[in-house]
Amino acid sequence: MRLILLGPPGAGKGTQASGIIKKYDIPHISTGDIFRKNIKEGTDLGKKAKEYMDKGLLVPDELVVAIVKDRLTEDDCKKGFLLDGFPRTVAQADALDKELSNLGHSLDNVINIDVPKEALIERAVGRRICKDCGATFHTKFNPPKKEGVCDVCGGDLYQRDDDTAETVTKRIEVYQEQTRPLIDYYNKKGIVLDIDGAQDIEKVFEDIVNRLESDA
Ligand code: ADP
Ligand code: AMP
Repeated sequence: MRLILLGPPGAGKGTQASGIIKKYDIPHISTGDIFRKNIKEGTDLGKKAKEYMDKGLLVPDELVVAIVKDRLTEDDCKKGFLLDGFPRTVAQADALDKELSNLGHSLDNVINIDVPKEALIERAVGRRICKDCGATFHTKFNPPKKEGVCDVCGGDLYQRDDDTAETVTKRIEVYQEQTRPLIDYYNKKGIVLDIDGAQDIEKVFEDIVNRLESDA
């Protein structure tokens, strides 16, 4: 299965990704995670990406597209993939289309998770991530059993540098301007599944699976 998760920052893409990749046994490709890993490791790519991420801006298309193209040619992507946070611009979507057609593949579905703007800031500001395994929690909506400690692996939880109210507000604006047009872009291809993300995590997952299976 070849899938894209689309939605504003804080919509629940990463949270839903963990269930989807388990259920369908496909790799999770999150460009945000790739950048954060590079920042942690101090690579040149990480240094470049951080300049944009800290301001809530998008990393330039050339950098992101090159990473995703490489990643899609890895062996595990033969069985499919779940792209999370990519594409984020029409230029990235065009580049993805081209790359997939070179590989002889096409997308099955775009899962578009919609959440009202007012809820997004509270979700992102309360987000906590495991520094070891990347699992995502929320101080209020999905708290770990022990504060500051990952339920999955026991690692320490941290708050992303770009999860401040100010940067999240900017990221939402950037989403509206540059990423939202992709809903139309993929609607024209007839592959968008609209999901109401303003429900419990479990209900959102149930809706995604039902829609994927009724569309298959
Ligand atoms: P995204 O990857 O779209 O930026 P995340 O999956 O990281 O979003 O979710 C953002 C925050 O909101 C996280 O702290 C997560 O635990 C929380 N969250 C995700 N889905 C829901 C939901 N359905 N209801 C309430 N909080 C949620
Ligand atoms: P995310 O983890 O998806 O919320 O992404 C965090 C940040 O990484 C974004 O605010 C961007 O600065 C950068 N980023 C992630 N994916 C992309 C992308 N596809 N295009 C441009 N920038 C991206």
